[in-house]
Amino acid sequence: MTAILDRVPLAPLTTLEVGGAARHFVQANDDATVLGALRWAAERGLPVAILGGGSNVVVPDAGFDGLVIRVAPRGRRFEDAAGGLVTLTAAAGEPWDELVAAAITRGLAGIECLSGIPGLAGATPIQNVGAYGQEVADTIRAVRVLDRATLQVTELDAAACGFGYRDSRFKRDPEAFVVLGVTFALRPGAPPALRYPELAAALASSATPTLAEARAAVLALRARKSMVLRADDPNRRSAGSFFTNPIVDAAAADEVARRAGALQMPRFPAGPGRVKLSAGWLIEQAGFPRGTRRGPVGISTAHALALVNLGGARTDDLLALAAEIVAAVRDRLGVTLAPEPVLLGAAWPTRA
Ligand SMILES: Cc1cc2nc3c(=O)[nH]c(=O)nc-3n(C[C@H](O)[C@H](O)[C@H](O)COP(=O)(O)OP(=O)(O)OC[C@H]3O[C@@H](n4cnc5c(N)ncnc54)[C@H](O)[C@@H]3O)c2cc1C
Repeated sequence: MTAILDRVPLAPLTTLEVGGAARHFVQANDDATVLGALRWAAERGLPVAILGGGSNVVVPDAGFDGLVIRVAPRGRRFEDAAGGLVTLTAAAGEPWDELVAAAITRGLAGIECLSGIPGLAGATPIQNVGAYGQEVADTIRAVRVLDRATLQVTELDAAACGFGYRDSRFKRDPEAFVVLGVTFALRPGAPPALRYPELAAALASSATPTLAEARAAVLALRARKSMVLRADDPNRRSAGSFFTNPIVDAAAADEVARRAGALQMPRFPAGPGRVKLSAGWLIEQAGFPRGTRRGPVGISTAHALALVNLGGARTDDLLALAAEIVAAVRDRLGVTLAPEPVLLGAAWPTRA
């Protein structure tokens, strides 16, 4: 098995670049190493945390007092499937955006709107990654997992994954499984999904936009919001959206609009009687414009939902800004925002 290292700094393995070290760390480039690492930790009674590309985690300043397994096996295959579909089966360590590009090159629709999302394939089911009107739950057919209780490899179908908005069984029960691979069912020759008005508008000049045009449009829209990783972008040290968009009932949404004094509040249908609000809009209404700074942390100048490490920040600086925003949105607008990223190995502090 690959060597288990001690005292490995985790900040450089995350996009936020904050936080402390892992007491023990292993880079698992194959399934056997994942299994061996879980056994190694169990024999020593150590807690385990799983890391992928580090684009949706916040590492506490104290680091992680256990074993961090970076799950990064590679490999992908496309196969013809029933119903004229083509499946894409990817090992957990495949870089997500490379898969999207490969699917588009083969003319396979289903994940084109998820272009430009950082991270690895194995993490996409965790929060049911989504953007621009698509989410991976639309196309995931199966997730191959290592059951951490039995150490057996098993396959879960999509229904067993319990997907919701930025949510899944994996996110609700992070100790249960390690994702080893994901199979997506894609549609050859189908047009891109243009459900999201901003994306549809960007492609309005084309009568029959291609998957490649949709990808280019998504990447351009994302770049304007600093939602693709670029080494020269001052907003680059983030975890993308720091809060999920709250889903409330229609009466609660009306009350938020009343409290905001807004004639026009962004609101989107989210199932019978339910309304999805824009967390970014709420944050700006509560007095936190883009570019707000608190020492070494701040709000992205390109997107009110992204908290950024401006350089040299500690996790506590970030958590303090997040707590300040949550309190202001709750006090002014009566909505409690929930963080989207995962605090590695810890529960988010509850805010009074
Ligand atoms: C600039 C930017 C833009 C973003 N835009 C979007 C967006 O549009 N939509 C969106 O949904 N997300 C977005 N994100 C968030 C993030 O990219 C996704 O959630 C991504 O899927 C995380 O992948 P990762 O490999 O980096 O996971 P990590 O950050 O390493 O891990 C995230 C969580 O998944 C768990 N995990 C990771 N791999 C495994 C595995 N193999 N088995 C079990 N658990 C695992 C970790 O324990 C952790 O809880 C964005 C992030 C950034 C920085």
